[in-house]
Amino acid sequence: MEKYLIRRAASGLIGAAFLALALNSSRHELHSPFIFYFLLSGFPILLPTLWRNCGWLGPVRRRFLAARNEVWLTIDDGPNPHETPAILDVLSEHHAKATFFVVGKNVARWPHLARMIIERGHSIQNHTFHHRSATFWAATPAVVRREIALCNEAIFAATGTTPTQFRSPVGMANHFVHAEVEKAGLELIGWSASGNDGVAHNPAMVLEKILRRVNPGAIVLLHEGPLRGLAVGERARTLWALLVALESRGFHTVSPMTGNDTHS
Ligand SMILES: [Zn+2]
Repeated sequence: MEKYLIRRAASGLIGAAFLALALNSSRHELHSPFIFYFLLSGFPILLPTLWRNCGWLGPVRRRFLAARNEVWLTIDDGPNPHETPAILDVLSEHHAKATFFVVGKNVARWPHLARMIIERGHSIQNHTFHHRSATFWAATPAVVRREIALCNEAIFAATGTTPTQFRSPVGMANHFVHAEVEKAGLELIGWSASGNDGVAHNPAMVLEKILRRVNPGAIVLLHEGPLRGLAVGERARTLWALLVALESRGFHTVSPMTGNDTHS
């Protein structure tokens, strides 16, 4: 952990140094490089925060140690009454396992779906309570703490289980997120194979993008929940096609519960 503390401190110091240069240059009115230095002051902190799955400010698992042709299937943003039951049926049909990174407010609203995920043998993990994807990159320690705690409470109330893993909304994590995730005893999980199905869902394109990045130890990212223009059931159909494609390539899905790898 120490190397991350050093990196966080270094990012802050470099940013502060550029800010000092900016303030100093603002005294000289003509040809002042104030804006240049001012913009530079934000980069050491903003860049690793906005860069999805970036492991500069803290450990992020983007792959896992696979003994065979295994991938870790993760499904974000549920549960959802229009998607989750069909997704669970598809997983059962293919004897596949998945980790569901759920949104706490959805769990509080549909606790029976969270229970159903556990009863079907899958893992359920923390993806914040509100999923404030537009602002979480700038979250304060208090906000991060609250988002983690509320989601954990909702999951425990619904299922009696306590998460061990956390995924940040849209994969962005500032240094407060890293610090609070560590304090909560959670592991920050990223991904290595995404079809960008959270923003646009063209089934063929989603499949093509994911399969291009599939290899032993890959963490696959899928989403559930409503999306403009997306027909109900489309996500389950895409999952079905993905599982068929994985099977034809000799891949199995696993849902690792403990740290056994690798990336930091
Ligand atoms: Zn999400």
